[in-house]
Formats: sequence, structure tokens, C-alpha cells
Amino acid sequence: MAKLVTVIISPVDDCNMACRYCIHPKQRTGSRMSLETLENSIIKVSEYSHRIGRSAKFIWHGGEPLLATIDFYKAVVELTTNLEKKGYAIKHAMQSNATLLTWTDAEFFVKNGFHLSFSLDGPIHLNDKTRVYPDGKSTFNDALKGILAYKAISGHVSTICVLSAGNIKNIDELYEFYKLQGLFSQFNPWFYTPGSLIELKINPLQYREAIIKLFRLWFFEEDQQSWGENNTMEEYLNMCLRGVSTSCIFRENCQSDEFYSIDSFGMIGPCSRFFGNPEFHFGNINKIKLFDEIVTSNKRRMLQGRNKVLTDCKRCDIHLTCNSGCMHHSYSQFGTVFRKDPLCSAYQAIFTDIKKMTNDALAQAQKEAVHE
Ligand code: SF4
Ligand code: SF4
Repeated sequence: MAKLVTVIISPVDDCNMACRYCIHPKQRTGSRMSLETLENSIIKVSEYSHRIGRSAKFIWHGGEPLLATIDFYKAVVELTTNLEKKGYAIKHAMQSNATLLTWTDAEFFVKNGFHLSFSLDGPIHLNDKTRVYPDGKSTFNDALKGILAYKAISGHVSTICVLSAGNIKNIDELYEFYKLQGLFSQFNPWFYTPGSLIELKINPLQYREAIIKLFRLWFFEEDQQSWGENNTMEEYLNMCLRGVSTSCIFRENCQSDEFYSIDSFGMIGPCSRFFGNPEFHFGNINKIKLFDEIVTSNKRRMLQGRNKVLTDCKRCDIHLTCNSGCMHHSYSQFGTVFRKDPLCSAYQAIFTDIKKMTNDALAQAQKEAVHE
């Protein structure tokens, strides 16, 4: 797989929904990215990626990225096409709530190679505990309509389900829902951040039990193919068996790899979860000449040192697989990134449980083979 420079871009600081666990509920300015910022973002990142021999991957994110007009994305495609003529490799993805996605727009995105993924927290009675419109009304039918339209056109669809207190006790039901709908899903933990609903908080033990249950259902599933690739269960299996991960959370510190974010004002940071927090601003895309200035900035270098200073992690058996977890999890719980991920105890237990489960299954298969 070609190496990437991944940039999460927020074309709007706005959303048509009001999820109860939203990280940025009160800070939204309603701003739209200007064409100047768009051009600078795509050109400077792509030039940098090309120079270091990687592909540029832009993940259009929110707020809700579909609040940007289709003309905005036509400009994205035009810029991309011009750069591709120079030999640059560029990919596009999007994370959307799907409620605004029309059939025509879905066709446009599929035709132009955008890989869309959608957020949905399970069947209607679970999804609507967390993912609602500002007036509290259900988003489920609008979201599912958009998701299924995209699936019909592209042939596959990926979703993200956030595990919170709203759905964590319904793991069997979640598993069946995603399987029946044919929605490949990742299951991400939710962390309390100021401004969101504390009642939705989950603890490491709940997360551990939920992931192990999902893993068990998937591992003994006859048709694992129906879950596609890139789901959370396969992710954990790959980490346990091969020590590799595609999730930013377990990479050797997301800042040691080429991972950035750009907000609608052009501010560059480590990850969209830190949008609006000047402590984590590396610079502005409109003010720099070359993207290299960001790559080597002092603030970024400081973040790169995170998992080298966490002494607990250095002593941990799975350090090289877990890599100290997500720095935003740490920041949202402790106010600093220089603490290990608060889900640490869950990660340790999940790795141990999955290794045992896979070893037992292997031993059983070998025993049966001998008796045949
Ligand atoms: S801060 Fe966390 S969510 Fe953001 S890129 Fe790093 S590991 Fe991923
Ligand atoms: S499991 Fe815990 S101690 Fe081990 S590397 Fe991860 S965060 Fe650090």
C-alpha cells in the first residue's frame, strides 16, 4: 500500500445536527472555507507529499462536510485533476452524517473517486439517543437513506458507530444491525469532553467488555466477509497477530507519521479533535510557503515525543503495538497529552483476551485435524 500524507480537512465549521457527544458543540462559528484556503491546502500538501514520495489523502470532515456546496467539491476535483496531470498522487475520503446526501451528489462523489464513510450509532432507538437534530428530532431515517443510496451506487459502504452509554449495553443488537444492513463498521469509544453530555460517558471496563463481545461474535462468525475490511475486530486481530494497525490510535504516535488537520480558517493542527484549540496550532496554510515548515514545527516535534516520555508505557508488554494510544483521549481526560491513554487497562485486557481466544481456537483446530 502506498504511503500517505493524511490531512483531515474541515471545509465548514458548522453542522446540521446536534449530537449529544459532540466535541465542539458550542464553538461552531458557521464559517466556510474560502477558495484561497482550499487551493493553498490542496496544492501545498500535494506538493509536499509528492516531494517525499507519498500520496496525499484528504479526508473531508466536519462539522458536516456536506454543508459545503457541490461547487466547492467541483473545485476540489478540478484542483486534483490539474495536479494529477503533473504526476501527483491524490486520494479523497469523507466522513459525513449522511443526512444531506442526495442521490445526485452520491453519484458525483463515487464518479470522482471519493470514498465516503458515515456515522451511525445503530438501529433507530439507539442511534437517536445520541445523534439528533438541534430540535431533538430523529436523524435515523434521513441518515440511513443517504447511506443506502451511497451503497447502491458504490457497491459498499463503511460506517463508524460510537460506543457510548447510549448503546454499550446493546452489543448483540448492534452487531446484528450492522451485519443485516451490510454496513462495514468500526466501533469507536466516546470520551466525555466539556460541553457534551456526561451521562453518555463509558469506562474502560465497559469498553473492554463491548469489544471482546464484538470480537467473539465476529471471530466465530461463519461469514466474516460480510464485515468487509477495516472493522474494529479485524483491527484488533491484526494488532495481536501481526503487531500492525491501520487505526491512528495505535500507530507509533499519530504525530510520528504524516497526519495533520486543517480547519475552515486554514489553521493546521495534529488532528481535527483539537480544532479551535490554539495550544495545538502549528501554523496557517495561507501564511506558509512550504508545508515543510509545519512538518518541522516545534509544537509538532514536542507532540512527537509523547510516547517516549511515558514511563509506564515503556515498561508495558504491548507498548510496541499500542504505542500509548490516542493523545486526544489523554487530553480530554487529564488536560495534557503527556499521560497514557485512559483506556490503557481496556487495551491490555483486550489484547490478552484476543490472544488467548485465537490461540485456543488454533489449538482446537490442530487437535481436530489430528483426529481426522
Ligand atoms: S489524536 Fe487520537 S484520534 Fe487524533 S490522530 Fe492522534 S490518535 Fe488519532
Ligand atoms: S496498554 Fe497502556 S501502558 Fe501499554 S502502551 Fe498502551 S497505554 Fe501504554
